[in-house]
Amino acid sequence: MINVCDPQRCQSAGCTATLCVGAGLASNDEFFERSARAIPGGVNSSIRAFRSVGGRPYVVAGAEGAHVIDVEGRRYIDLVQSYGAVILGHAHPAVTAAVSAAAADGTSFGAPTPREMKLAEAIRERVPSCERVRFMNSGTEATSTAVRLARGYTGRDRVVIFHGNFHGATDALLAAGGSGVATLGLPGTAGVPAGAVGETMVVPYNVVPQLDEAVAAVIVEPVAANMGVVEPVPGFLEGLRAECDRVGAVLIFDEVISGFRLGLGGAQERYGVTPDLTTFGKVIGGGLPIGAVGGHQAIMETLSPLGPVFHAGTLAGNPIATAAGLAALNVLEPDVYTELERRAANLSALLDDACRSAGLRAHFPRVGTLVGAFMGDGGPVKNFDDAKTTDEDLYARFFHAMLAEGVAMAPGAYEALFVGLGHDDSVLTDLSDAAHRAAATAVSA
Ligand SMILES: *Cc1c(COP(=O)(O)O)cnc(C)c1O
Repeated sequence: MINVCDPQRCQSAGCTATLCVGAGLASNDEFFERSARAIPGGVNSSIRAFRSVGGRPYVVAGAEGAHVIDVEGRRYIDLVQSYGAVILGHAHPAVTAAVSAAAADGTSFGAPTPREMKLAEAIRERVPSCERVRFMNSGTEATSTAVRLARGYTGRDRVVIFHGNFHGATDALLAAGGSGVATLGLPGTAGVPAGAVGETMVVPYNVVPQLDEAVAAVIVEPVAANMGVVEPVPGFLEGLRAECDRVGAVLIFDEVISGFRLGLGGAQERYGVTPDLTTFGKVIGGGLPIGAVGGHQAIMETLSPLGPVFHAGTLAGNPIATAAGLAALNVLEPDVYTELERRAANLSALLDDACRSAGLRAHFPRVGTLVGAFMGDGGPVKNFDDAKTTDEDLYARFFHAMLAEGVAMAPGAYEALFVGLGHDDSVLTDLSDAAHRAAATAVSA
C-alpha cells in the first residue's frame, strides 16, 4: 500500500512517503517545479517531461495493479506500465515479496550470487538461443554490450540498424538515417561524435539489406515497438538471418520490449527465427533496473573473463533486480500470455470503437500482446516513413482527453500501450467508457 505523507515533513528531503494527499502543498505542478530545480527538466528520462504532447506530467506517488496514483491522489488506469517493464501489474505481491526478501539478505556484494544464476537459468530454459546469459543494469547497456561483443567476435566494425528502431541511449546506435535511404549514419543527437556512428549504417525497416563482409552485426527490433507497433513483414526476419549467415555477421534481436512480453520465447519463438544474440531488459527485471545479453555459447564466451571483449558492472546481476525478475518469470506461465493477448485484443478493439464512434480517425494495430496507436487515415504501417505520417497533434489531444478521463497513456505518439495482469475485465470496461468520452472530447477540441 502507499505511504501517506506527514505534511509537516513533506518539505524535507528526509521524508520518504510519497502520497501527499490533502497536505495542501502537494500539487503535481509544485512537485514538478521543485524537481526541475534539482533535476534537468524535472525528469530522468526525457519523454516523461510531456514535451511532445504539451502540458506537465502527473507526479506518481504510488501504484497498484493497473492503476497509478499521483501526488494529488488521482487514480489513473495506467497503459504505460513503466514502458512495458511491469507486466504483472504494479506492486504485484510476488515481486514485492521477492524484493523484500532479497533486500534483507543484503543489496549488493561484488561477488557471484545464487539469484543471478537462477535468473540466467530461467532465461536459458525459456529462450533456447540463449545458451549463456550475462546481466547488466539497463537495456541500453545490453545493446551496447551486444554490439561490442559482435564487433570483438567478428573482428569487424560495421553495424546495421533500422530506421525507427530504438536501442537505448548508446552512442553507436543513436544514428539518424536519411528518410529511409540506406546511408552511413549521421549522429541522431548532439554529443555523439561523427566517429561514433561512422560505422553505423541505417536502413529502412522491413526490407532485407544486402550486406558485405565489413558488417559485424545487424541489430533489429524483431517487432518494432518504438515507432508505434510494427510487425515484421513475412520473410524479413528470415531474410536477415540468411543474409547474416551469408556474410558471417552476427544477428542481434533487440528483445528489450518483446522479450517475455510477446510470449515466453519472445519474438524469436513467435516468428521461428533464431538470432545469434538477444538483448533483454524491461520484463526480466520485474520493474527493477536490469539488462541482459544472451546467445550462442561460442559468441558469449568471447566476453571477459573467458575472452577478449571486456564487460563489467559494479551492480551487474544485482540480487534485488534478479530476485524481482525471477519472481516475475515464475508467474509468467504460457497461459498468462493467452490471457494477455485477449486483453490486448480488447484494448485495441475498444479504442478503435471509441474513436470510430466519435468520428476520430485512428487505429490501434496489435501484434500479440503489443498494441500501438496510429492517428489519422494512414494505411498499414511498415516502416518509419509510414509511422511518421501519424497525426502527432491529434495524438496529443487524445492523450490529454484520456488523461482528463483518468487514463494514462505514454506522452508520445510513437510508444506502445501496455496491458498486464492488472488490466482485468472491469478495468477494461472502465477504460472503454473513458475512451468513448475522451475520443468525443478530442475530436471537438
Ligand atoms: C527500452 C528499450 C531499450 C533501452 O532500455 P533501457 O532499459 O531504457 O536502457 C532498448 N531497446 C529497446 C527495443 C527498448 O524498447
